[in-house]
Amino acid sequence: MAYGIETRCIHGEDGITREHAYGSMGTPIYQTATFAHPGVGQSTGFDYTRESNPTRSELERIVSSLEKAYDTVACASGMAALSILLELFENGSHFVCSEDLYGGSVRIFSTIGANRGLTFSYVNTADAELVEKAIKKETKALYIETPSNPTMQVTDLRAMKALAEKYGLLLIVDNTFLSPYFQNPIDLGADLVVHSGTKYLGGHNDALAGFLCSASKDLADKIRYIYKTTGGCLSPFESFLLIRGIKTLSVRMERQQENALKIANWLKEQEEIKGVYYVGLPEHPGYEINKSQARGFGGMISFHTDTAETAKRILERVKVISYAESLGGVESLITYPMLQTHGDVPAEIRERLGITDNFLRMSVGIENGDDLIEDLAQALKGE
Ligand SMILES: *Cc1c(COP(=O)(O)O)cnc(C)c1O
Repeated sequence: MAYGIETRCIHGEDGITREHAYGSMGTPIYQTATFAHPGVGQSTGFDYTRESNPTRSELERIVSSLEKAYDTVACASGMAALSILLELFENGSHFVCSEDLYGGSVRIFSTIGANRGLTFSYVNTADAELVEKAIKKETKALYIETPSNPTMQVTDLRAMKALAEKYGLLLIVDNTFLSPYFQNPIDLGADLVVHSGTKYLGGHNDALAGFLCSASKDLADKIRYIYKTTGGCLSPFESFLLIRGIKTLSVRMERQQENALKIANWLKEQEEIKGVYYVGLPEHPGYEINKSQARGFGGMISFHTDTAETAKRILERVKVISYAESLGGVESLITYPMLQTHGDVPAEIRERLGITDNFLRMSVGIENGDDLIEDLAQALKGE
């Protein structure tokens, strides 16, 4: 019987800690670039760290176990994982993407991807009909974030899988927001899962990392080849930090979700707040679909304030919460997507999505929930 996910976060699929020298509970950091060969034509299993390293391999095995993947490569950042992903596709390939992707994803698609002859259509993937209409004969993949960033749209992954099968496309899911603790896209038919490990998996706002998980050997072989060739690998030390971070993923996600629900309900009652977007609120349009495909709602909330002044007042006055980019760590952060994460998204698309000067996104941490509410209250009221 497979272990539960809480156990796999700590021990991997098969109790990896048993394999460490001297019974070490902590994963040894193999801080080395190269490995001596025992004899001519022989290998210890590791030759050169760009290709593989024992600390990183352990991390990759844990993430594969959590995401139910055939294989996972650990990369220097989420963007490094995305740059490998683009290399899988030939010139002329077309993608249908969720319209409010992470801003950095839009940037790499529209510059480096476009220069390589790739094309991208952005649609509201919460509407499967719009997705089907956007599919052309050159389309090779669907690229989905659910819930999306930052407007929290939920896409029906089973419906996306049905379209991917009908048209022979790869289904790619950026699973950063819910993490494998709450959602496993491969179980629902995804071919590839992307992560910014910098966020919930690392969980402490202290390390950059990215993952590209593949569901099949065929894709894994291609990715391993690109990985060792382009060299965007995760260092042994960061691999250790990620292993350490993932051990507490389950308790962090539970507390973040609990705090997020409390805060979302409080925000709804505030006169200066005009719209609260949290997937865990039953009135959220994606509530039921998310519930049918994920085990939780996560810790990300977006909201509109009455005016830009209110939004700026919150950003400038929060004390426990920090006004900072990024998400998923133990510390609560609040961002101004218009200027930060989505600054590179064209203005007309931002306007259409509601990413305006009175729109904020909060990554809820694991602090005391009432302290976070009090901090928001003092910032909001300007008292
Ligand atoms: C942060 C983020 C990325 C990029 O990851 P980095 O680790 O910052 O390079 C990609 N997708 C999503 C959803 C993100 O939040």
